[in-house]
Amino acid sequence: MRNDERVAYLNGQFVPEGEAKISIHDLGFVYGDAVYDTARTFAGKLFKLKEHIERLYRTLRYVAIDPGHAPEEMTRLTEELVERNLPFLRDGHDFWVTQRISRGLAHYEGDARPYEGATVVIECVPLPLASRAHYFRDGIPVVTPSVRRVAPEALSPRAKTTNYLNMTLGDLEAKAQNPKNWAVLLDHRGNLCEGIGANVFLVQDGKVRTPTEEHVLPGVSRATVIEICRAEGIPLEECDLALHDAYVADECFLTSTSLCLCPVTSFNGRRMAGGVFGPVTRKIADAYSKLVGLDFVQQYLDHAPE
Ligand code: PLP
Repeated sequence: MRNDERVAYLNGQFVPEGEAKISIHDLGFVYGDAVYDTARTFAGKLFKLKEHIERLYRTLRYVAIDPGHAPEEMTRLTEELVERNLPFLRDGHDFWVTQRISRGLAHYEGDARPYEGATVVIECVPLPLASRAHYFRDGIPVVTPSVRRVAPEALSPRAKTTNYLNMTLGDLEAKAQNPKNWAVLLDHRGNLCEGIGANVFLVQDGKVRTPTEEHVLPGVSRATVIEICRAEGIPLEECDLALHDAYVADECFLTSTSLCLCPVTSFNGRRMAGGVFGPVTRKIADAYSKLVGLDFVQQYLDHAPE
């Protein structure tokens, strides 16, 4: 095996990424019939892997895909994947660590399939610290595109599937106005929903509010922020939020595995009242850094291009 390239896990084997090849008949590619979950490392150590694996298995049950591995085995393989790739982690960097599972290969009459059952991939890549550093310096400009989030009656947002076209279309619309924009889609009723890979929070009069789990992915970082608010005595509510709430909010931030939490400085072009890091966002970010044992804001800022 080559030892100058990251390795990925593919259907029972660790192989160099360049040799991890999937069939053109894989249903993940043919129909987007696949799911995934992504954790991250802090200083090379996986954070809340248990929560990510639990969400992965809830999603797998929802879409009725059997990965052929018990959760404990998936956990062990994910830890081994990180261990094997640590030599490729540059100083001060961290990994995105993802399990990707499709329903397997499409069946064509008369064709033999090289294998039966799910396609299972586990891979890791470096976090995009340099290209996202400006969001921690200047804040995120959020835009709500005309594309609405798929209604829960059509596809549950609680499941983390590989079907991102809905959010990709929203993001393309937002980025067509300004490449730095980040789309936060409205739900089918016109309330704030979620962004491409991120949950949204508003702060007003010291109270933190976020849309309910019925309409968004229960983000692991969202849950971490909720835990921090409870521990720090910051009032928190999960509720429906209208655009009006965003326009009159003092602070706004997004949460995601890679960002942890990142301040939003404008909403549809309107500046947030609280500046880049308002006091509540700062307090939660500091507690988040303490919890993960690394100043994640500084980690991003350290990688800002000159
Ligand atoms: N919402 C959606 C649609 C996502 O895909 C993600 C993550 O990719 C999130 C929210 C944030 O979830 P987490 O904090 O677990 O990364």
